[in-house]
Amino acid sequence: MVKPQLTIQLSDAHRIPQVGLGVWQASNEDARAAVRVALQEGYRHVDTASIYGNEEGVGEGLRDVGTPREQVFLTTKIWNDAHGFDTATAALEASLKRLKVDYVDLLLIHWPAPSQNNYVEAWRALIEAQRAGKARSIGVSNFNQDHLQRLIDDTGVAPALNQIELHPFMQQAELRQTHQKMAIATQSWSPLGQGTALTNPVILDIARKHDRTAAQVIIRWHLELGLIAIPKSITPSRIRENYNVFDFELDATDLIAIAALDSGGRLGPDPSTFA
Ligand code: NAD
Repeated sequence: MVKPQLTIQLSDAHRIPQVGLGVWQASNEDARAAVRVALQEGYRHVDTASIYGNEEGVGEGLRDVGTPREQVFLTTKIWNDAHGFDTATAALEASLKRLKVDYVDLLLIHWPAPSQNNYVEAWRALIEAQRAGKARSIGVSNFNQDHLQRLIDDTGVAPALNQIELHPFMQQAELRQTHQKMAIATQSWSPLGQGTALTNPVILDIARKHDRTAAQVIIRWHLELGLIAIPKSITPSRIRENYNVFDFELDATDLIAIAALDSGGRLGPDPSTFA
């Protein structure tokens, strides 16, 4: 039975499920098995990238279960070595081939890599890919306000979504506000803080209060902020646990307590310098 899921409407009118499975640092074999479990548990959204090296496994997992293609929201990303128009176009073709699909639901530029100063060209390739039906929605990842503004100024097309590092220790209030003004959806990568937020005493207290796990509390927090979260696990019980977040709510006291955990500390690279 498919469990109820929350979806968000993107600016291009496509809908994205608010919880998806992340597969960074999973081998092809592990990604295949994780995708299989996730789909069986009701997930309808998977986040991969060419650099993860597991697009074949993700595609196999999707075919193993046989969920109709149009019911699964599939994301991949263009890596930093493919920021020209032709290279980005070729990178998408290679991803589609590895995934064995005709289109992805969401195609992202993985990082702005501003030192290359070529992300606008990559963006033009994504606009064309969307026009050609090879990517239903197009967006970016790790872009800051200046990078987003430049895409809009130079092409007139705003990304539908920006996937950024976001968890209780790095809540990104300013960038979220920018997204709201620009009608860009916010997607949280490392939503559990790569596991570091799971042992936080404030989170554990809230989890006890609701008779839930720390992971469920944090994922629920993302949902209530209107974010899209892609927690990663290859462990079946955790994949299941992370999706069982649609039948409880945090209260105002919980949200205030979690808001106070923000320390602005990044786990990942700084987008303004990473190339
Ligand atoms: P995460 O915050 O999802 O945490 C994953 C870690 O938490 C893993 O070690 C996992 O074993 C553990 N975990 C997951 N569920 C658990 C549970 N219920 N109980 C206990 N432990 C649990 O970190 P992540 O993998 O870095 O991020 C999630 C996804 O975001 C990635 O897989 C990838 O798809 C995406 N991502 C994107 C970028 C980007 O630059 N766009 C960068 C990093 C990650």
